[in-house]
Amino acid sequence: MGVPTLGCTCEVCTSADPHDRRLRPSVLLRWNEAALAGVRERVVVIDTGPDFREQALRNGLTRVDAVFYTHSHADHILGLDDLRPLSFTVFREGGSIPLYASSETRAVLEHIFDYTFSPDATYPNRAKVELKPLAERTAVHGVEFLRVPVMHGHMKIAGFRFGRVAYLTDVSSIPEASFALLEGLDHLVVSALRHKPHPTHATVEQAVAWARRIGARHTWFTHIAHELGHEQTNRALPAGMALAYDGLTLPVELGSVNL
Ligand SMILES: [Zn+2]
Ligand SMILES: [Zn+2]
Repeated sequence: MGVPTLGCTCEVCTSADPHDRRLRPSVLLRWNEAALAGVRERVVVIDTGPDFREQALRNGLTRVDAVFYTHSHADHILGLDDLRPLSFTVFREGGSIPLYASSETRAVLEHIFDYTFSPDATYPNRAKVELKPLAERTAVHGVEFLRVPVMHGHMKIAGFRFGRVAYLTDVSSIPEASFALLEGLDHLVVSALRHKPHPTHATVEQAVAWARRIGARHTWFTHIAHELGHEQTNRALPAGMALAYDGLTLPVELGSVNL
């Protein structure tokens, strides 16, 4: 829902700590690719939620080379239309922005954004984007993205691994087979909604237990509801684990995933 949560006056929603102001979760990956004409910045986004525009402005986004979608819920997709101006840049270079999505996510995107995806759409300024199937491994300009299946209630959704980093949001359980894809991580980003159990999201306690088993050097919790104050929650977390926050930036090594 984002924090402050609309209509709420709780301690966290009215906190003066900037870490307690949370836009909807998303990841931005940037790297430099050596190209014939010098170095080219490459940009991948995971999920375009309702705050995508604000997040793009805060991070000075001028291009997007690809988007990966975890699943089709509103807080992860509703910013898709704000890809339009960025897609025009890519269109002038002769392409479109690939959107990697499962068939379930694709069906929802095609329905909600029918003016973009319908073959009958006549709207001339629609986003220059192209839905692509989400494979087990997808390479974007030399960087490999591994799909890591996780459960979100009854939905099987996508987490992602790139280099020695994994991003798993909206998780309620992790299938046994997916743990094998999470070995040797420098950074694990995993969702932890609150302390009280929720049918489709992990509690902090569940997420901490996964984090211990996965054993990444650093674990960051995301998709945090207003029950969790930043300072207070961090004080109680084990070493090597902390709440993520808007604008958190981590240097990571990308490339292929050797598993
Ligand atoms: Zn969700
Ligand atoms: Zn969500």
